[in-house]
Amino acid sequence: MLKVDIMLIKNSQDEVKKRESSFKIIKSILNEKGRRDLYDLTGLSGGFIASENDLNLLETYVGPAIFEEELETLGKEHLGGEKVLAVNRTSSGILATILSLVCENSYIIHYLPEFPAHPSITRSAKLIGANYIEFDNLDDFHIPENTSLIIITGSTMDHKVIDEDIFKEVINRAKMRKIPVFVDDASGARLRTILFNQKKAIDLGADLVVTSTDKLMFGPRGGLMAGKKELINKIKSKAHQFGLEAQPPSILAMVNGLKSFNGENIKNSIEKKQELINLLNNKSSGTLGNVFEETPTGVMISEESLKNELKSHRLLDNISSKDCCFLLAMNLLKNEGIITIPAVSMPGASPTIRFDLSSHDCEKLKMETLADKIFNSFNSFLEIVNDYDKSEELLFS
Ligand SMILES: *Cc1c(COP(=O)(O)O)cnc(C)c1O
Repeated sequence: MLKVDIMLIKNSQDEVKKRESSFKIIKSILNEKGRRDLYDLTGLSGGFIASENDLNLLETYVGPAIFEEELETLGKEHLGGEKVLAVNRTSSGILATILSLVCENSYIIHYLPEFPAHPSITRSAKLIGANYIEFDNLDDFHIPENTSLIIITGSTMDHKVIDEDIFKEVINRAKMRKIPVFVDDASGARLRTILFNQKKAIDLGADLVVTSTDKLMFGPRGGLMAGKKELINKIKSKAHQFGLEAQPPSILAMVNGLKSFNGENIKNSIEKKQELINLLNNKSSGTLGNVFEETPTGVMISEESLKNELKSHRLLDNISSKDCCFLLAMNLLKNEGIITIPAVSMPGASPTIRFDLSSHDCEKLKMETLADKIFNSFNSFLEIVNDYDKSEELLFS
């Protein structure tokens, strides 16, 4: 008989519901214990640095004029390119770019170091009626006739980073065909350059790049684009037509996030990662150690490895692997105050539980304590994973 997994989170609306219950938990921890007992290890900071003077300027049209000009300078330093554009999210930048440069029935070709692609790329392609093809290896990579845009992902949602030689080769092939190259460098603009010593996407020959201003830097959720002036102008106009552009408060926080950025946290995470991995291996005496995989700035538990781990515990695993990730993430949050992406993510984001040790909140967390917290959560997760009612209550309380 074919065994069908139970799905607790069935669709995007359930994901939104799960996110809302996480926010309730976060609020109750904040009220009962305080901010110190919450540890945001998502690597997404939602940072908002602003002085009183900045905030006063924000109330008038003078401020935005100043912040936008500052962003132009700082954005070009960070990403290169001739012109900068601030958008509401990286996803908004991806949508605006595809709406501007791709026509119906033409091809979008996407090279990424590992599947899956960020859902905003596939959804935008579908919206405009383009043909979408993605590759994760150079042997299969090809560019069909009638291709209007080539996208390269510099670093995936799970922080798998592209090889720089492959990056250059894809750009070469696009250039031979005179097709614009757009790089989704949401986290890559920092991960690739700081930890892997790679060049900025624009310096590698890309025409356009977008990065997320809250990934591995202390800025707001938002997207920063840069590239050829002519293309940016086109995309900017489209972004304004659909309300995809960043608003002045975000632009102010982007400016201050970029000013304060130095990459030290990212570099320091390497040492912490080694310490955490040793602790996790010692504590688990073998078994649980297999669940963790390294990322550039921390460790992660993927859907597949969590599911395999449950099998090795001989647990009846009829809950889908995505739900398992959501449940473990909820346990981490509810019992230990640790915020990871699956607990708070937007629909369609990666279910991988990533502990990003470059996160701001990691500064107040000993690796010994973190390892204990992870183990405790894992044990409470094992206790409820086969109890449908308790699991449902945890996700949607
Ligand atoms: C995070 C991410 C995005 C989207 O960022 P949002 O701020 O959620 O819009 C797009 N692509 C990749 C590779 C990402 O990691």
